[in-house]
Amino acid sequence: MNSTEPDPLKTEMILLHRQAKSQFAMLEQSLPYKTALSFVAPITQPSITDLLGLKQIFLAEMIASDNKIYEGFVLKLTVIEEPIFSLPSMPMLAEDEKSGVERISIYNFNWDWETLKENFAFGSKFSIVNPFFRIATDGKSAIRVDDPGTIVFHPTLSDKGKCRFCESPSNSTIKCLKCLKAFYCSNKCLKNDAKVWKHNLICRKN
Ligand SMILES: [Zn+2]
Ligand SMILES: [Zn+2]
Repeated sequence: MNSTEPDPLKTEMILLHRQAKSQFAMLEQSLPYKTALSFVAPITQPSITDLLGLKQIFLAEMIASDNKIYEGFVLKLTVIEEPIFSLPSMPMLAEDEKSGVERISIYNFNWDWETLKENFAFGSKFSIVNPFFRIATDGKSAIRVDDPGTIVFHPTLSDKGKCRFCESPSNSTIKCLKCLKAFYCSNKCLKNDAKVWKHNLICRKN
């Protein structure tokens, strides 16, 4: 990937997500709110925890306006923008293995705060069994997960240290000195994330 010219659509999605996330910054840091995030709700989609026998599908093969569940398929994803810990859904941006980028909204989750932070950190990998692709209420496409039981985490495959901007999986040793969470392969990528994708919107001191 050319690190100076990211896909404009991807940039647009990232900026929208980061602006929304920055609006939730105060709420995400409040302890009562973190506790309230963990709740149990009815489950509506079939649960499968075994990926055997399922065919891998890619975002480019799915059509949001079809508004359907791709039964028997598995969508393998990497988190590229961490979730907005909002209710009732938890939206994030993820990328498939063919560089397709999409919003993923998870409903009815009952993971605790630490599990959420760990499993959906930048670079985390997970699969969605029987993915549901639709046009959301804002008129844009999204993968909707009603049953978190259809999500399979792949912690051993995660690459949380890859470059935030160009996603090069090399040892990214340059980091944002404020949040200490964002790593980059070069100063150029650090600057691009700040300038093009407005890293400051999601940059918080821990
Ligand atoms: Zn880079
Ligand atoms: Zn930062």
